[in-house]
Amino acid sequence: MFDYQAPANLLANKNILITGAGDGIGRAAALCFASYGATVILLGRTEEKLEYVYDEIEAAGYPQAAIVPLNLESATETDYDSLAAMLEQEFGKLDGILHNASLLGMRTPLEGYDPSIWQRVMQVNVNAAFMLTQALLSLTQAAENASIVFTSSSVGRKGKAYWGAYSVSKFATEGMMQILADELESVTNIRVNCINPGATRTNMRANAYPAENPATVAAPADIMPVYLYLFGDDSLHVKGESLNAQ
Ligand code: NAP
Repeated sequence: MFDYQAPANLLANKNILITGAGDGIGRAAALCFASYGATVILLGRTEEKLEYVYDEIEAAGYPQAAIVPLNLESATETDYDSLAAMLEQEFGKLDGILHNASLLGMRTPLEGYDPSIWQRVMQVNVNAAFMLTQALLSLTQAAENASIVFTSSSVGRKGKAYWGAYSVSKFATEGMMQILADELESVTNIRVNCINPGATRTNMRANAYPAENPATVAAPADIMPVYLYLFGDDSLHVKGESLNAQ
C-alpha cells in the first residue's frame, strides 16, 4: 500500500468534486476526504446512492457535502456549463477534482466487441472527463492550489487481451493527464496526476472477476493514502505522475 500518514486537518477548507461518488472507490474517497475536513461535492448518476453518502457524511459530523446528480454518459456541454456556474456561485473555487467514475464495458475480444458499448465506455471514461475538466478549469485556477486526479488502471499502461474499450479508455486517460499536466506546468497552482487503484473490492471488480473471492482484494477504504497524498498540500510538487495506490 502507498505509504502516507495524513495530518488530521489535511483537507480543511478544500472543496473537492468526486465523480462516481455514490459507490465503490468514489464513495470511500468522499467519506475519507470529508473526514480530513474537505467539503465534498458528490457527482454521480444514481441520486439515492449520493444521498446515502451525503447522509453518512452528515451523521459523522463532517463538513456538509453537496450533491450533483449527473449522468456522464448523456451530459452535454450545456450541462457542464450549468454545473460550473452553480459551483462558482456556491463555492467560488475548486481545490480538487477526482475523475473516478468509469464503465467497465465488455470483457471480450475486439473482434466481437459491441460498437455501441465501446462508445458508451469512451463517452463516460474519456469524453466526459475531458468536458468536465474543461468546464471546471477556471474554478480550479481560483483556488490557492488545486489537484486534478484522473483514475487509471494497469490495463491503461499495458494492453491485455479482452479488456477492449476499458483498456483503450485508460490509455487515453493517462495521455489526457500528461497533456494537461504539461500544459499547466507553468500554472504553478494546479497539479495533474493519475492514480491506478489496483485490485479493489467494488462492483466493478466483481463484474470483471466474477470467480474471485472478494475477501482477497483490498477494500476501497484501504487504498486511500495515495488519494489523500495527492489532494493534500504535501504533493504540491508532484505533477504529471501516475501513482499506484497499492
Ligand atoms: P464502481 O464500483 O463500478 O463505481 C463506479 C462509480 O461510477 C459508481 O458510483 C457509478 O455510478 C459511477 N458511474 C458509472 N457510470 C456513470 C455515469 N454515466 N455517470 C455518472 N457516474 C457514473 O467502480 P470502482 O471499482 O469503484 O472504480 C472506480 C475507478 O477506479 C474507475 O475509474 C475504475 O476504472 C478504477 N479502477 C478500479 C479498480 C478496481 O479493482 N475496483 C482497478 C483499477 C481501476 P452507480 O453507482 O450509479 O453505478
